[in-house]
Amino acid sequence: MLRSHTNGQLRIDDLGKEVTLSGWVQKTRDLGGMTFVDLRDRYGITQLAFNMDVDASLCEEARKLGREFVIQVRGKVIERSSKNPGMPTGEIEIDVDSLQVLNSSKTPPFTIEDQTDGGDELRMQYRYLDLRRNQPRKNLELRHKMSLEVRNYLDSANFLEVETPYLIKSTPEGARDFVVPSRMNPGEFYALPQSPQTFKQLLMVSGYDRYYQIVRCFRDEDLRADRQPEFTQIDCEMAFVEQEDVLRTFEGLIKHLFETVKGVGFDGDFPRITYDEAMEKYGSDKPDIRFGMEFNEMNQWAQNKGFRVFDDAEVVLGIVAPGCAEYSRKQLDKLTDWVKRPQIGAKGLVYVKCNEDGTFKSNVDKFFDQNELALWAKETHAEKGDLILVLSGQVDATRKQLNELRLHMGTALGLRNPEIFKPLWVVDFPLLEWDDETERFHAMHHPFTSPKPADVNGMEDDPGSVRANAYDLAINGVEVGGGSIRIHDRELQSRMFDLLGFSKEEARNQFGFLMDAFEYGAPPHGGIAFGFDRLCSLFGGQESIRDFIAFPKNNSGRDTMIDAPSPLDQEQLKDLGVQVQVSEE
Ligand code: ASP
Repeated sequence: MLRSHTNGQLRIDDLGKEVTLSGWVQKTRDLGGMTFVDLRDRYGITQLAFNMDVDASLCEEARKLGREFVIQVRGKVIERSSKNPGMPTGEIEIDVDSLQVLNSSKTPPFTIEDQTDGGDELRMQYRYLDLRRNQPRKNLELRHKMSLEVRNYLDSANFLEVETPYLIKSTPEGARDFVVPSRMNPGEFYALPQSPQTFKQLLMVSGYDRYYQIVRCFRDEDLRADRQPEFTQIDCEMAFVEQEDVLRTFEGLIKHLFETVKGVGFDGDFPRITYDEAMEKYGSDKPDIRFGMEFNEMNQWAQNKGFRVFDDAEVVLGIVAPGCAEYSRKQLDKLTDWVKRPQIGAKGLVYVKCNEDGTFKSNVDKFFDQNELALWAKETHAEKGDLILVLSGQVDATRKQLNELRLHMGTALGLRNPEIFKPLWVVDFPLLEWDDETERFHAMHHPFTSPKPADVNGMEDDPGSVRANAYDLAINGVEVGGGSIRIHDRELQSRMFDLLGFSKEEARNQFGFLMDAFEYGAPPHGGIAFGFDRLCSLFGGQESIRDFIAFPKNNSGRDTMIDAPSPLDQEQLKDLGVQVQVSEE
């Protein structure tokens, strides 16, 4: 080994030890008679001391060290005269007696410091340097610990980790596939899995009744801060289970992770809410329940009083922002502009200030007198000092807008503390979702999700109202996982494909293997998958999943460090039998 200790290891108890250290030069400080060098590796920083009076030429050498040079030193652990209590090694330093430069370094394009001067793009381009910084390193350490604990828990519960192929036929999870041309089968393509969904179901047919895999999935969709074209799932499946068994098992996993990784415990079971209730109360299928501000339907008291906007609306919905009656005209105008932004899309915002003196002030008090506003306050449980915020319009759109406003107010009022964790199971999702554009139903989860037995009869007559045995786990408003009990019956699966508008031939073509497998004794089964990157970012208290991926892609799906994607040369294309025609658009 080119070192006897790491740079985070030595303490006051090690005084007098002869040690060899290796690492990167974080910085050098020249104080006339003494030169100090901070030597860094992934374990920490140790201060090296060079004394001009003792060895002038060694000190000269140390002075010449540039940032990020890789060096090896030998020396003795001594007590520091000015200690740094902020550093684990802050009580000692190394009195260096030999120095060897193992490699020099160009000056890095940004400082390798916590408060770096490098912007996002630059740091992504030089990600290998960015990863030397503390925060990215801590994030990857957290990720490692999380995956270790996932494996510990699932292993102890008899789950078997099985790898499934990456070069497959498409699995529909609602996104576009990434495809790979096959040289050996000209004109044919593999798809990269959007998830191992069909394989894990086949493993159930094979009798591997508890499967999991920490696995990369690929989805070609528009990117946001919490999405990457390739991401990692904790993918799980169980046979001979009902929904309750799956929820219990994986609530156990999440609790185990919180306990072992964050030292956070939970009293009792995670709360559950049905999809319908979540939409009614929060306008979201992944509500953030760290705070209240639930929706109030106000049609009864707000309509038919001559205010056209409300009268023409399908729904009038309000939330109560606690303690905000003092909002100034300017603040309210700003809030109104905020809801009117195209991303939110509301037409306007109605407010009612519940003043401390018992009176009400509203921008619609032309239409609603004090008694009527008092009734609004009573029915929405608004107290003196609160502010009622009201949106109206078509149900789905209004819910969506008010959800945004609720989250915005929650943030503004400091009610979304990232150190508080509020998990919530959302259950009974609809089986299908109507798509106006294609004018047909899509599977809300995926086509293998089982309808609730009580609703199966309605599948053909009233498909929109059929509920599924499907569930999501949301934590702090983030969907961290989702799954379902599956269809394990060939007949029912084929009815589901019919509903989704697959012709018999298409279904056969795409999923014949699964339908065939169902004819050889498929056990009842169900499962779940967690977004591993998202779980990590949630545990790490950060919004972007990118920070928890060693080599992520940017918002255009590019890896700017290796410069991918990139064109192929003619030879390679010919080999693959692929012709490229880039459209003008
Ligand atoms: N395959 C599903 C997904 O990726 C999860 C599941 O149903 O287990 O969302």
